[in-house]
Amino acid sequence: EPLTIAQLLQRAAQEHGDREAIVAPGVRMTWAETEAASRRVAKAMMAAGLQRGDHVALWCPNTVEWVLTWFAAAHVGAVIVTVNTRYKTEEVRYIVHQSDARLLVMVGEFVGIDYLGMLDRLCPDLAGEGPPNAEGFPELERVVVHGDRVPDGTQGWDAFVAAGEAIGDAELDARRDEGAYDEPTIIVYTSGTTGHPKGAVHSHVILRNECSISETMDLDVDCRIMNHMPFFHVAGGFTGILPPLITGGAMLLMDRWDPTAALELIQAERATVMSGIPTHFIDLINHPRLGDFDLSTLRSGWIGGASNPREVIDAVITKLGIANLLPVYGMTETTSVTTSPRPGDPREIIYRGVGLPVSDFEVTLVSPDSGQQLGPGVEGEVCVRGHLLMQGYYKNPEATAKVIDADGWFHTGDLGVFDEQGYLAITGRMSDMFIVGGSNAYPAEIEAALAEHPAVRQAYVVGIPDERLGEVGLAFIEAREGAEVDSAALRAFCKDRLANYKIPATFVFVDEWPMTATGKIQRFVLREQALEVAG
Ligand code: ATP
Ligand code: MG
Repeated sequence: EPLTIAQLLQRAAQEHGDREAIVAPGVRMTWAETEAASRRVAKAMMAAGLQRGDHVALWCPNTVEWVLTWFAAAHVGAVIVTVNTRYKTEEVRYIVHQSDARLLVMVGEFVGIDYLGMLDRLCPDLAGEGPPNAEGFPELERVVVHGDRVPDGTQGWDAFVAAGEAIGDAELDARRDEGAYDEPTIIVYTSGTTGHPKGAVHSHVILRNECSISETMDLDVDCRIMNHMPFFHVAGGFTGILPPLITGGAMLLMDRWDPTAALELIQAERATVMSGIPTHFIDLINHPRLGDFDLSTLRSGWIGGASNPREVIDAVITKLGIANLLPVYGMTETTSVTTSPRPGDPREIIYRGVGLPVSDFEVTLVSPDSGQQLGPGVEGEVCVRGHLLMQGYYKNPEATAKVIDADGWFHTGDLGVFDEQGYLAITGRMSDMFIVGGSNAYPAEIEAALAEHPAVRQAYVVGIPDERLGEVGLAFIEAREGAEVDSAALRAFCKDRLANYKIPATFVFVDEWPMTATGKIQRFVLREQALEVAG
């Protein structure tokens, strides 16, 4: 019987008790200390009346409290609901409400953002008697704040934890031992690249995925993992916290992305693992003082979340020294689906795309038109099956049924191609496709063509309505610094490279992009902007 998160924590404390587990600004904790602190928080949750299966919303950046809250919830069988720290009042209201959270753990203030002020607007009668806001949040009973300010109606973190002293160890251990591997432990909301966030429910089964990724990355008890990616998303929370828990390694916490701070942390803490979306690596590779830092401890990492340009892969290996670099393809609902098979494989394999399915996953490509499974060389929708999949979207059976079919295949909405050896390449997203006079146009292809123009830094293409053709493309272009380029030049450039129907009808020049908190461009916002431009 595989171990749950709480049982793994117990094992880490027994086997690696005096090794470092968590390093954060002003804090260093061993695995023994981490387990002891998690137990105190778990007792507090029990004292607060949390039952198995109850939900705890977590609205804070990467902090020690974040990690302890997850470990404690796992201990008592509660489920954490991660809330994006970039979200503002209405988005937080949506998630806290939709998830039926009974407890909200939050930070008072962060990067100059007044979270308590937002809470005030969420729960106007917070200071009154009884539950924070019976009307807006029927389930929410308690708000725990870490920080200096603890308004009436909320509880400070220390007071919350202290109240757990009433619970005995035997009672707590009994709770942990009732835990089952396949019961939910975390609900992660999707990025919202394509619309409203949906809560993907994951059980302790996610540990299997992290075990295989850790093995592929060659991680052991000496691993020291950079944690700059936000914990509220699977990329940060799962691959940053679980591999050290499994191996007895350490997590190095950063509460925001800052390239200079990242380089300093790698050097000072002798980080061995750095993973991320291409943007993070690009920031380090282009850092003006890169050469001043000793990054010689870096060995492994994954790159993914968006397409991985070749030059970036090369530079990560040669300039940052991450020899075991794994391309990864995955998403909130599945965690990691594919990766390159082994560290040290020839670099050509990494260029081939996102690699082979990880163990426990089946991957197939299906024709969007006929629903038939496709062979190599033909583009189709990526479908994934296996017990590592999410259990479903929380309280959203319609949305779940839309993506998981009767045979258990999860339809990702991504387009891909297999080569003869079974390596997958991601070629675009189905929802991004637009139809020009009956011909299907995929933005990824057009964007790749535009990106070859020396003056183009980034290009994003969306479809807009057109009276004659049904739809046509509109390209948003960010020019390179100091470069001059106009619509006519880009149109001429495309003429040599793309079929006429794929050439954008309109070019819009921008110097800023709407981003999700995970650092991806929000296409639905671009689509809205395109509609405004098109009138
Ligand atoms: P939402 O589902 O809320 O619209 P989202 O799909 O962007 O948002 P995530 O789960 O964070 O939210 O992102 C997963 C998606 O990111 C994948 O479905 C795929 O489109 C893209 N992606 C992930 N890894 C890669 C990769 N290595 N190469 C290309 N695209 C990738
Ligand atoms: Mg998605």
